[in-house]
Amino acid sequence: RQEQYRALRDVPAETRDGVAVNLLMNAGLLVDLPQLVDSGAAGIGLFRTELQFMIASSMPKASEQERLYSAVIDAAGDKPVTFRTLDIGGDKLLPYLHQSAEENPALGYRAIRLALDRPGLMRTQLRALLKAARGRELRIMFPMVTELSELHRARDLIARELSHLTKFGHLMPRQLKLGAMIEVPSLLFQLDELMALVDFVSIGSNDLFQFFSAVDRGNARMAGRFDDLSPPFLSALKSILDAGTRNGVEVSLCGEMAGKPLAAMALMGLGFRSISMTPSAIGPVKAMMIELELAKLERLMAEHMADPRRQGTMRQLLTDFA
Ligand code: PEP
Ligand code: MG
Repeated sequence: RQEQYRALRDVPAETRDGVAVNLLMNAGLLVDLPQLVDSGAAGIGLFRTELQFMIASSMPKASEQERLYSAVIDAAGDKPVTFRTLDIGGDKLLPYLHQSAEENPALGYRAIRLALDRPGLMRTQLRALLKAARGRELRIMFPMVTELSELHRARDLIARELSHLTKFGHLMPRQLKLGAMIEVPSLLFQLDELMALVDFVSIGSNDLFQFFSAVDRGNARMAGRFDDLSPPFLSALKSILDAGTRNGVEVSLCGEMAGKPLAAMALMGLGFRSISMTPSAIGPVKAMMIELELAKLERLMAEHMADPRRQGTMRQLLTDFA
């Protein structure tokens, strides 16, 4: 199997009926970088910057952050990299950052909520990213956005860093693209307004499904009880794709679903043309897609989702099709 997947590395990521889908990889540390070549990924769709912070025993210095980001951008060459700003708090605690215990950490003081309250932390990171990407394209996205005001504030912080660095003669990124992760259902009801503020969005389906279904993503007792291949959740994903198309904003998905061949197939059938996954999943997902008759699947899924008598998950229907 491993051998078979490796042989697919340089095979174009196209369905049997000729539709290209960008297969990107998730990463977070220097050790992940060789996978960019080994897996044949088209780029890094999610770089989890908090991992550097989580394995350190004290706050990584600005220079250390910049060095990591430069190494990532260098390793990627012409391939795009999307850096996610710090997603700490909740269950991702840093021993050297005082964080108090919370009753519902997943719903608490985390990610962009914490970052906006600690602009020193966020600005240091943004500055490190801007410096690391000198002369290159830089893509930054923010985790756990709930309200658009958070994005306005994050953009203001970036504008301040940009003008500061320009004043001191630093070479700026050739192009800067800003994105939001869609992980909180509140965004589903302001998609057009959201799309007006960003260049791209990436769906964090792990968290989005957790909040959509009110089910703790880490609770073994609830695992398997609700299915992300059910029409309500897939309709939510489809509404994001449609809003992206209406507004000319790129939509991708970077949760674990993307790396499971059956779920990846369903995502392609919904209309996703870019997904990001753990590097070891790229081979299996590509093996699935080169056999896939996408037009047939699109028809099957659209019909099923429009059928008022449909019930429950689409897993069996999708498995039978596969
Ligand atoms: C997600 O929530 O789907 C996601 C990609 O982010 P993380 O798994 O790091 O929370
Ligand atoms: Mg998440």
